[in-house]
Amino acid sequence: PTTLGVMGGGQLGRMFVQAAQIMGYFTVVLDPDVISPAGLVSHHHIQTDYLDPQGLVQLMQRCAAITTEFENVPAGALVTLGAARPTAPSADAVAIAQDRIQEKAHLARSGVPVAPYAVIESAADLAAVADDLLPGILKTARLGYDGKGQVRVGTRAELAAAWKALKGVPCVLEKMLPLAAECSVIVARGWNGECVHFAPQRNLHRQGILAVTQAYEENMPLALSQQAVEAAKNIANELHYVGVLCVEFFVLTEGSPERASLGALVVNEMAPRPHNSGHYTLDACDLSQFDLQVRTLAGLPLVQPRQHSAAVMLNLLGDLWVNGVTPRWNAVLALPGVHLHLYGKLQANKGRKMGHLTVTAASAAQANATALQAASLLGVEAF
Ligand code: ATP
Ligand code: MG
Ligand code: MG
Repeated sequence: PTTLGVMGGGQLGRMFVQAAQIMGYFTVVLDPDVISPAGLVSHHHIQTDYLDPQGLVQLMQRCAAITTEFENVPAGALVTLGAARPTAPSADAVAIAQDRIQEKAHLARSGVPVAPYAVIESAADLAAVADDLLPGILKTARLGYDGKGQVRVGTRAELAAAWKALKGVPCVLEKMLPLAAECSVIVARGWNGECVHFAPQRNLHRQGILAVTQAYEENMPLALSQQAVEAAKNIANELHYVGVLCVEFFVLTEGSPERASLGALVVNEMAPRPHNSGHYTLDACDLSQFDLQVRTLAGLPLVQPRQHSAAVMLNLLGDLWVNGVTPRWNAVLALPGVHLHLYGKLQANKGRKMGHLTVTAASAAQANATALQAASLLGVEAF
């Protein structure tokens, strides 16, 4: 059988491996950790650093094609892999997504604006920041996720202090926008440029971490939804992207001056991989985002996925395992339409994504009602 490889051993790699195995592929995971969610379920695990030449050679020798599951995999490793094997997404696309400064420039070409921002790489940049970018969010250009590497600043003094606290690394200061909602669009684009998509899902973040995703048609006005899908496809096309790509959007508050000047939709950022907000596709769609990742990588036909159930996804963070006590799975699993996914992580740290739970139902109202019951049983904040 053909073997597919993945850089990274997290939960996204695990779900990729599982989707690949269903279609008969062998899988290899490269991850430095002895035990990782994907390494645990893969046929083979190469335990080296991402840039270790021996690890990369092994991966290339074993695999017909290679993908990645997290955006901070060194782009240099993907360059090496891409020279020998079909590697998707490409090092170029990943490098852009890894750097907010480059990313913003690309996103601005999608047909939907980005939040007003300034690049801060020097004291002079800091001094030149326009007053109307405050209050804002200072974000490190690299290596941020789940709201890490971000500081909210109200004044120039706070901005200066925050940049200093971030050790003066290259940053982007974004104007704080009034958000009515957040959503994301997941697209899958093949080697031949063919592109399919999931409808936008609505995302609720808490402390910068995705908490809840609601996926059903009533989520968004059709015109906005179409605009978001078109923008996501434009971004994928402009990057000549191959694989699964997620684009996050803000929907601005009606009647706000920002909405008057920017429009209803603002593009936030992209992730060059399947995304937490697309986990519901495993249970609510006839093809999941991971099925599409396998298909794009293996050069198999892409078809437009169809969502067959309304869905609400709750993230299960380490906070739920307070004092080592296991959450009440029995009570939750007694509810209709509950799909429990746990990633096999041994250590339940605060804020760590341990698993997720998707509720599928015939209607949005039912999915929300059951998800609220599940949240209450687990001690997850209501939404
Ligand atoms: P991810 O884990 O999604 O990669 P991240 O750390 O890269 O997250 P962002 O997506 O940039 O972070 O921001 C995290 C959250 O902070 C957003 O989902 C949104 O709720 C809020 N946020 C970010 N930028 C802005 C903004 N300009 N105005 C208002 N809220 C914002
Ligand atoms: Mg991000
Ligand atoms: Mg984000």
